[in-house]
Amino acid sequence: MLNWVEIDATALRNNLKLFREKIGGKVELAPVVKSNAYGHGMLTVTGLCQDLADRLCVNSLGEAAALRRAGVELPIVVMGYVEQDDLAELVEMDLQPVVSNLPTLDRLAAEAGRQSRTVKVHLKAETGTHRQGAARRDLQPFVERIAASPGLALEGLSTHYANIEDTTDHSFATAQIATFGAARKAVEGWHGKPVPVCHTACSAATLLLQETHMDLVRIGIALYGLWPSRETLVSCRDEGGELPDLRPVMTWKSRIAQIGTVEEGSYIGYGCTYRTTRESKIAVLPCGYNEGYDRRLSGVGHVLIRGRRAPVRGRVCMNMTMVDVTDIPDAGLEDEAVLLGAQDDERISAEQLSGWCGTIPYEVVTRVNPALPRIVVRPEN
Ligand SMILES: *Cc1c(COP(=O)(O)O)cnc(C)c1O
Repeated sequence: MLNWVEIDATALRNNLKLFREKIGGKVELAPVVKSNAYGHGMLTVTGLCQDLADRLCVNSLGEAAALRRAGVELPIVVMGYVEQDDLAELVEMDLQPVVSNLPTLDRLAAEAGRQSRTVKVHLKAETGTHRQGAARRDLQPFVERIAASPGLALEGLSTHYANIEDTTDHSFATAQIATFGAARKAVEGWHGKPVPVCHTACSAATLLLQETHMDLVRIGIALYGLWPSRETLVSCRDEGGELPDLRPVMTWKSRIAQIGTVEEGSYIGYGCTYRTTRESKIAVLPCGYNEGYDRRLSGVGHVLIRGRRAPVRGRVCMNMTMVDVTDIPDAGLEDEAVLLGAQDDERISAEQLSGWCGTIPYEVVTRVNPALPRIVVRPEN
């Protein structure tokens, strides 16, 4: 294998159990496995966490369909938009849509009637993100139409925080909690009974603000052992108490596909952006931006070979990257190279990679090409 991703099953299970413990027995745990489980492999991750999950959250109908085809029977919440013409399929597969527009609700009611099924609908309240959701004053017709449609059941009311990862000041989140509370009260008034599952919390909210947990938490990034942001870590630390021991799940590996000596004063790669300042040993990794190794790592990133850092030289190519192993004299053909993760005592974290690229850890892991094999390692005993 030339390029692959290792999924640490023990780390993943550790992260899951940590959240299970944190939220207590009455709150549902819903792993977010959208975007190929943030690059970790949707089916691989789902297989490893099914027994500890109450529901799963995905973005698209396609993702939910792949889970159902693989035999996953857990309730699945589809958080992203589903086209009107695809709603019949959503009903057939017994999926739970998050709805924030009336045409979707009407079409769902019609499809549910046609198929003699009941669709469990989650409404989304707009509380400050202005992305998806209906404002409190607009929610009444949703509740009324659900009441008037025998095929629809109000299962959930949800929202999403706009400013929780990016700051240590949680006043915006606190305001959103209040807005959500008002929307919930209004909805329950029109509905005439409580909404079974109210849910607002992503990883950062779950880690920082207990009042966001409500009936269910949607855990994405932290399930994969990554802190949502430095600010989340700092906020958690400032609260005192023990920091949760999140363990990174992904290790991304490649192998040296060529190795050789290059004279002093030679250029490396496209654009002649790097010139050797000494006779150098250069290794070629068969991994480039097609595989998900960001081109912004050109001349900036490092990989690990034999437990030591090898700097990227010149530009990252589509399918290849050159690294300097002059100071790793025992490096040889087909040696493993770690692009992300640990090797011996060294580690390249998603935080570090994302810093080099000017992005966030979410993007680094999510961009690893889904075609690379995901191999489960360290199964739990
Ligand atoms: C992706 C997503 C989440 C998970 O967020 P993390 O920060 O990765 O935990 C939760 N809720 C919604 C609506 C999302 O889109």
